[in-house]
Amino acid sequence: MMAVDDKEHALNHAARATIFNQDEQRVNWHDETLWFIRSKRDKAAWKIPEWEALRDQASQIKNNVLGNLYDYLITFEKQAQQNGVIVHWAADAEEHNRIVYGILQKHNIDKIVKSKSMLTEECHLNDYLHQQGIEVTDTDLGERIVQLAGEPPSHIVLPCIHWKREEIGELFHQHLGTPKGNADPAFLTAAARADLRAHFMTRRAAITGVNFAVAETGEFVVCTNEGNADLGAHLADVHIACMGIEKLIPQRKHLGIFLRLLTRSATGQPITTYSSHFKKPRDGQEMHIVLVDNGRSSRLKSDEFRNALKCIRCGACMNTCPVYRRSGGHSYHHAVAGPIGSILAPGLDMKKNADLPFASTLCGSCTNVCPVKIDIHDQLYKWRQVLVREGYVDPAKKAGIAVMSSVLSRPWLFHGAGSLGRWFMRNIPLLIDNRFNPWYKQREMPAAPRESFRDWYLKKRKQP
Ligand code: SF4
Repeated sequence: MMAVDDKEHALNHAARATIFNQDEQRVNWHDETLWFIRSKRDKAAWKIPEWEALRDQASQIKNNVLGNLYDYLITFEKQAQQNGVIVHWAADAEEHNRIVYGILQKHNIDKIVKSKSMLTEECHLNDYLHQQGIEVTDTDLGERIVQLAGEPPSHIVLPCIHWKREEIGELFHQHLGTPKGNADPAFLTAAARADLRAHFMTRRAAITGVNFAVAETGEFVVCTNEGNADLGAHLADVHIACMGIEKLIPQRKHLGIFLRLLTRSATGQPITTYSSHFKKPRDGQEMHIVLVDNGRSSRLKSDEFRNALKCIRCGACMNTCPVYRRSGGHSYHHAVAGPIGSILAPGLDMKKNADLPFASTLCGSCTNVCPVKIDIHDQLYKWRQVLVREGYVDPAKKAGIAVMSSVLSRPWLFHGAGSLGRWFMRNIPLLIDNRFNPWYKQREMPAAPRESFRDWYLKKRKQP
């Protein structure tokens, strides 16, 4: 398995995708596995006659939340405090990490368990706590695998989807002492469970993410298939829930809509195995919620890009994206990969993530499957325009587009270029199909047609 090393961290999407593509077998299998999950999503959605109505409702509820976010946040804070929960506000990732560390310091805790939370990935919490001498154990099986491998997750729902079971067997052999060569999934899962149980039983603090927070009641819901969030939170003296401020829904009755959409969109399951509601700390426990902005309120101000905040992190846009499926999650160099990551990341750092909106065919498949109807491919296109305007696009790409624009807007030039191109294809093909032309790196040059469509059409039109 190729690990993401420091050099790769400096590379853009195309360069990282090239590395992922060196292992053709892995690419094919990654592509097919994700397409299989996308197909399961389709079957699950088709079984529900009101599926499109559910998507509409979810989209409208999220529109309402975004339009009244301040009020819902204040209501949520008040309700949560009344339930006995300590609420914190973090303007950015740094403040979020400091708050979490402060809570752990107060309780003299130096080892914690954490269940899957993309927000803590976004804030690089593990690295930060590690630097402060705190040991973090990720308890979701997929997260644990990538943690042992020293990698970030490559998918928001399936963090180790790029790993083969033989590789996981070898990883567990190295880190957990399982017999070499044993790659039986049931055996490996049992080994991980036994190892994790020791962490669960001895940790006094647990961090969880939040899938939905209900403004009306101050409660929050965490969805997992393994129950790891529940075990961690129930055994720990201190439960810290970290959530982005966009995770709110107005009322408990709205949960049904989102829970029906979430897992069907993610994996094709009717519902997650555990959809756990947390409302107040149990006797003797301390419960904290950290509400994190980290660029979300500035996105809220933008009419063009605010819709991205409706995301419920189901991963369906990744499973369907032909570019994601064949370039792998690490090629996106952002905590959230794929189409949704490509419209969230430039809002956080335009310069660093300027390549991501271009990592798309703009086919619109992401928009078609999104359960909350985010106009993902439109936003990708709009980000491209912003990035060109702000000067963040590679000058070579900009020059190429200017040439194309000039050719395509002048019919005489277009016809001339076409004739010239066909002549070169026939007589000096090496001038076009060579190793310096990235288009033909993985393609075969077709035979040059005898004439252009236009010439053929004009000829035919003249015939009686
Ligand atoms: S953008 Fe839509 S499809 Fe993609 S992860 Fe978010 S909710 Fe799911």
